[in-house]
Amino acid sequence: MLMEEVRVRFAPSPTGPLHIGGARSALFNYLLARKYNGKMIVRIEDTDLERSSRESEENILEALRWLGIEWDEGIDKGGPHGPYRQSERQDLYQKYVTRLLEQGQAYYCYCTEEELAAQREELLARGEMPRYMGECRDLTPAEREKLEKEGRKPAIRFRVPENRKIIVDDLVRGEVVFESNGIGDFIIVKSDGIPTYNFAVVVDDAEMNITHVIRGEEHLSNTPRQLLLFEALGLPVPRYAHISLILGKDRSKMSKRHGATSVIQYKEKGYLPEALVNFLALLGWAPEGEEEIFDLSELIEHFSLERVAKNPAIFDLDKLNWLNGYY
Ligand code: GLU
Repeated sequence: MLMEEVRVRFAPSPTGPLHIGGARSALFNYLLARKYNGKMIVRIEDTDLERSSRESEENILEALRWLGIEWDEGIDKGGPHGPYRQSERQDLYQKYVTRLLEQGQAYYCYCTEEELAAQREELLARGEMPRYMGECRDLTPAEREKLEKEGRKPAIRFRVPENRKIIVDDLVRGEVVFESNGIGDFIIVKSDGIPTYNFAVVVDDAEMNITHVIRGEEHLSNTPRQLLLFEALGLPVPRYAHISLILGKDRSKMSKRHGATSVIQYKEKGYLPEALVNFLALLGWAPEGEEEIFDLSELIEHFSLERVAKNPAIFDLDKLNWLNGYY
């Protein structure tokens, strides 16, 4: 049987240096790609223009190179395989937005920040989950014209189907079920014309023929939105693997107290990249047997998503120091 080529991506937002959690996602993607002779793609998700910077982008790429995580397509590759920077792919997103608008699966929303805040308050006061209740769902052309004349700039929202169960069949977490009624029509293009994360990510994952999305658990709640967009656009859906949070030894959210959070700090402190790679791999992935020392090529050989744990990974600086001493 011919197997499809494994295609994975690491898709950082360049809003700061590469953190431990991001580096672990990049590593797991890399290991899966290399294990199956697939392709690794690096895509820069810089749709948040205010918070994104080239400096952060450089930092992330430098950190990946230092760790030895190589990629095949993307940010520094030319020709048909890059560079992939979302801010440079507007025309492509526009094409898909137009399709959703024409299909009636997206619509213009003129609500202002203040109106949205008031709607949220109202729902909270009624004890309901705050979500967009579809105020602009069925505006007539005349109503739209009036709002345009007031000088309002519309966002574009996706029309979320009602009463649907959305099942995320996750390679780490198993089946996770969401109800579409809890979601509310969400913005896919902001009023300044920039697509949102959920929209751009779906278009790009489809355009880049991504087969597996390995990313942090904080994105699990975005996944039902993304699945609905794939469905509405008739695009093939990748497999998902959401990897657990990284906590400090005291089980609180990983922070500076537990050790440096950005990869470059370890480079600057003179840590060996082999030690950090080994350490990152063990943050959530459990090898078979007692052995804990693995270089990159051994990790490629042994890595499997089946052995990635659901429960939080614990960041233990002593362990990293021990590994660093070993190498
Ligand atoms: N750009 C997102 C982030 O840096 C990652 C999105 C994804 O992997 O789907 O958190």
